Amino acid sequence: MNSMDFKDASKPSGPVTLASGQTVSVNRDLCIGCGACTATAPNTFGLDGEGKSTILASADSDPKEAIENAKNGCPVGAIDTGE
Ligand code: SF4
Repeated sequence: MNSMDFKDASKPSGPVTLASGQTVSVNRDLCIGCGACTATAPNTFGLDGEGKSTILASADSDPKEAIENAKNGCPVGAIDTGE
């Protein structure tokens, strides 16, 4: 049913550690599916069928700064990067 390519299929919203050393996770209980992170770091974040943000297999393609910006831009503070 879900054809998205997650960084870690066993935990689509992380935490996952990227090549940059960032450990990224989304708190699914907090995420309201606004999509802001998917616009700011489109290779990293994607909304799943439940409207929750997940971490995509292509996450290493986004600059670390873009992921930090997505974290800082999340209206509910659902993204953690360990920094
Ligand atoms: S910006 Fe935050 S609330 Fe919006 S989709 Fe991303 S994780 Fe969810």
